[in-house]
Amino acid sequence: MKTVHIKNKKAKTVSLLIIPHSKEISQINIATWIPKFSICLIMMVLLVSGYLSFNLYTSYNILKQDYSEKSHKLETLEVANQQQRLEIENLRSMSAEVQEKLDTIDDLQEIVKGLVGLEDTSEKTSKDKEQSSSSLPSRGGPGLRGNYSTKSNFESQIKELSSLLDKSSEELSSLINDVEAKLKYLDAKPNLMPTTGKITSGFGYRKNPFGRGREFHNGLDIANNSGTKIKAAGSGVVTFAGYNSSYGRYVMISHGYGYQSVYGHNRKILVKVGDKVEKGQIISEMGSSGRSTGPHLHFEVRLNGNPVDPVKVIDNMD
Ligand SMILES: [Zn+2]
Repeated sequence: MKTVHIKNKKAKTVSLLIIPHSKEISQINIATWIPKFSICLIMMVLLVSGYLSFNLYTSYNILKQDYSEKSHKLETLEVANQQQRLEIENLRSMSAEVQEKLDTIDDLQEIVKGLVGLEDTSEKTSKDKEQSSSSLPSRGGPGLRGNYSTKSNFESQIKELSSLLDKSSEELSSLINDVEAKLKYLDAKPNLMPTTGKITSGFGYRKNPFGRGREFHNGLDIANNSGTKIKAAGSGVVTFAGYNSSYGRYVMISHGYGYQSVYGHNRKILVKVGDKVEKGQIISEMGSSGRSTGPHLHFEVRLNGNPVDPVKVIDNMD
């Protein structure tokens, strides 16, 4: 088959001849603008599709880059998030530690109050206690309230508070030790009037009750009925409970801190050597055994082995 274009410049059509080998020639007339328009149309379609492809490709690249940037950012954020979570956990445990220390200090304060016999004026309802627990930084810490603008600042202040609390705790423990020691000393010191009665002879030189001249009286004589209860003037350990010719039936107590006390002329002794006695515990009954002119207690206080005036040791003499 052969096709022949017959172009006529004057004519507004072109003829398309189709010449088959066997049959008759056929002719198709086409307006001249159609091929031109077709070419233009194809060119335009090519241009537009080229432009669109380029745009698509550029957008794809931008999106790809954007995606990789964002995924990188996400990873960074995840790492930061993990880190912050750890830091929060850390701060939380630090707060718990501080709270524990505050509780310890509260307990220590209670111990001190108990030791010195103070009423618990800060007795709180459980609600109050909760409130005070939650208002942790308001406990007179080093300006904690309102100034922890940054995390590290807050962290350093918590650390500072924590070390302050450690110090307070140590000081309180040491105070408790001091108070306990002082109380132990006060309990041991033979400063309790050991019996009731009339003071018939004081500490110092006096007229000899058994004869002529003067003698040094190294104790305090308190006279009352035979059988009147005699109490330990301070806590301690009984180091003598027996008889001799001048003291009669007598008891000696060692109180520590250099103090000893002696209770003479008893009718009956109620303790034995080695007994631990409390201050005020009844140890004997008044009598007139030994070198005595009548029922009375001869009460002696010795400090580092030397007799001292009991009146100067006893509290609340009346
Ligand atoms: Zn005496």
